[in-house]
Amino acid sequence: MVIVVRKDPDPAQLQSLMDWLKSLNMDVHVSRGENMMLLGLVGDTSTVDIDLLMALDIVEDVKRIQEPYKKVNRKFHPDDLVLDIGGVKLGGGNFQIIAGPCSIESQEQICSVAHSVKAAGAGLLRGGAFKPRTSPYAFQGMRGKGLELLLEASRQTGLPVVTEIMDLSQLPLFENVDVIQVGARNMQNFELLRELGHTNKPILIKRGMSSTLEELLMSAEYVFSGGNEQVILCERGIRTFSDITRNTLDLSAVPLLKKLSHLPVIVDPSHATGIASLVAPMALAAVAAGADGLMVEVHNDPAHALCDGRQSLTPEAFEQLVKGVNALRPYAFQGIAR
Ligand code: PEP
Ligand code: MN
Repeated sequence: MVIVVRKDPDPAQLQSLMDWLKSLNMDVHVSRGENMMLLGLVGDTSTVDIDLLMALDIVEDVKRIQEPYKKVNRKFHPDDLVLDIGGVKLGGGNFQIIAGPCSIESQEQICSVAHSVKAAGAGLLRGGAFKPRTSPYAFQGMRGKGLELLLEASRQTGLPVVTEIMDLSQLPLFENVDVIQVGARNMQNFELLRELGHTNKPILIKRGMSSTLEELLMSAEYVFSGGNEQVILCERGIRTFSDITRNTLDLSAVPLLKKLSHLPVIVDPSHATGIASLVAPMALAAVAAGADGLMVEVHNDPAHALCDGRQSLTPEAFEQLVKGVNALRPYAFQGIAR
């Protein structure tokens, strides 16, 4: 339920309204806009008498929220969420490219890619240390050592880092990581999401390969419900009957998610297609659709990458892509699809 409070409410009346709502065991979320104030209620709102609320001088309107996600609902937050990630802003018109290799392989590799993507215009560095691989015999990532190398690349370049956690037991190693990624395969690991809700780091949640948008938003709601209100949503392609691409990029997810929620929405054209030559066209399409950012895999030597070389851009191809993105950005869809 959302209560729209009149402009410049009487402070004493507002306080007594808040006290009354809390006495009903409501979790009250306050959102202050320029011209109004919203009180978002989470809890058993069947105990709240709407007629009584509407009769209060300071209340302009009361709306029930039908959707199961409340705290990440756009109806709770008319304004876009803007994240500040080590001084790098994302969301609300602040566009960022997260780039780097699928996996961290060595100090030379991650530092070389980090310098290249920074020079080309990336705002954040990615690199996996814990890799969710379909085969137990495939390269599983450098784990703790990989995180150290990623942080060294961050120190050298000044780029904040994004890297994936696969299990709660790894959390202590993520202390200096800027953004914690929850991968597609873990999108509904509710224990993990709940625990990440107690951290104070932005959480990047990738859409599960067979997950609906509502399920994705409910995963973000898990993080919010633990108290952490910094989440980035990532569309990375879903499973369809497509036989050539790795997944099918669901671009309508971008304007839809931005309409349903205030969270920043980014697109990963690398995992969405699995093919390097398709990354630039899909990245540009994502920008046109209004994405707040991109996550792109870049490798200094894609042919010899230990993971996902087929979909990785060379630093040169990445540089070209950034130029295209910058040229297209002024024409991208803006605002909320009504
Ligand atoms: C990744 O970003 O490295 C990754 C494994 O992505 P996804 O979870 O989308 O498959
Ligand atoms: Mn990958």
